[in-house]
Amino acid sequence: MANTDLMSIPGQVDPVPVARDITPRADGRLDLMGLARTRIRELFAEAGLDEKQAKLRSKQVYHWIYHRGAAEFAEMTDISKTMRPWLTERFVVARPEVVEAQHSTDGTRKWLLRTPDGHDFEMVFIPDADRGTLCVSSQVGCTLNCRFCHTGTMRLVRNLTPGEIVGQVMLARDALGEWPKGRMDGLDAGENSDQYNADGRLLTNIVMMGMGEPLYNFDNVRDALSLVMDGEGLALSKRRITLSTSGVVPMMQRCGEEIGVNLAVSLHAVNKEIRDEIVPLNKKYGIEELLQACADYPGASNARRITFEYVMLKGKNDSDEDAHELVRLLKKFDLPAKVNLIPFNPWPGANYECSDPDRIRSFSNIIFESGISGPVRTPRGRDIDAACGQLKTAAEKKSRAELDREAAAQSDASA
Ligand code: SAH
Ligand code: SF4
Repeated sequence: MANTDLMSIPGQVDPVPVARDITPRADGRLDLMGLARTRIRELFAEAGLDEKQAKLRSKQVYHWIYHRGAAEFAEMTDISKTMRPWLTERFVVARPEVVEAQHSTDGTRKWLLRTPDGHDFEMVFIPDADRGTLCVSSQVGCTLNCRFCHTGTMRLVRNLTPGEIVGQVMLARDALGEWPKGRMDGLDAGENSDQYNADGRLLTNIVMMGMGEPLYNFDNVRDALSLVMDGEGLALSKRRITLSTSGVVPMMQRCGEEIGVNLAVSLHAVNKEIRDEIVPLNKKYGIEELLQACADYPGASNARRITFEYVMLKGKNDSDEDAHELVRLLKKFDLPAKVNLIPFNPWPGANYECSDPDRIRSFSNIIFESGISGPVRTPRGRDIDAACGQLKTAAEKKSRAELDREAAAQSDASA
């Protein structure tokens, strides 16, 4: 048999495959948002700068984009006046387009955003007394169809690019007015962090808990978060970033090794039958396999616990026996764990109800009594549909799963 490894592949082949990291723009300019410094340097060199200039300018531009929040080259005052129009002709520093911004009575804010190719997604900011958390989306829609999640009723439209992911954080800082304001006449002279690193910022934490499954968009999420965590970029500590997964077991090790952020796992049930129903990914990666991957998660310790999210669904997963089983499982795998009980947030057409407050309290008590922290999360931004699992952009078409569900509901109603 022929050795197919050595056969030539018909058609054009890129000798060095370059990831599609740039959102295409109609005017031909390249968007630098979401690009690492080395990539910016490469683009500057390709556009004609010599090596030394490309290195210097990419360092300056990188700093202005991610550390200072500049969206225009004209603002970059330490770059020569002749250089700025040269950059403007060839490059942009874009943010996702804001379609709508909503404010909840409890202070939560939600933004409906749009990609350049016209797909809508959402981001949420949740202020608390001691912190402010930005809930960031990783995909438009989600492939996973968890039964209690509104996003899960959307079909997956596409992965967000690194620029669209980090762009959410940039936009939030724009909206909250949280870019350093001090003078910066020269990189070295101005690099006095006391002058412009505002303490007491509103945006202190990031959770990858918006729309989508972040571990199904691993590379882009990793690249975006590395800009967020870079001390010369957005400079947020990895301890203040949490990635939530519904249990994509094969990517969890790499998540710990290559991203290194805190992990949250959407467990939601303690036996196969119920988890298969409400988190269908469980049919692929079961509970024991998932908990073993958590036990192996790099960087988890008693000081950096893994959060287990558990949505409280009336009569489904909320009995005392379920709580005891949850404790047993977490102990069996010796997990440095905390449990987050999330009251189910209803949405139109959902097939579940939230557990009663007494039931949730009893469940929570059992967890606490075992020595594991098991607080109940207060729903935020319900009035603007910004709470967990309520994100769904109205503009998106109905998914196959949603159509099936509606058809089933109709036939139930007519039976
Ligand atoms: N796809 C990732 C992250 C986004 S969801 C994941 O599933 O983990 C963030 C959290 O909200 C998850 O724990 C998710 O299961 C939960 N959630 C989804 N729909 C919900 C709803 N209607 N009410 C309460 N929590 C919900
Ligand atoms: Fe997707 Fe997470 Fe919603 Fe499940 S809970 S459908 S994984 S966004």
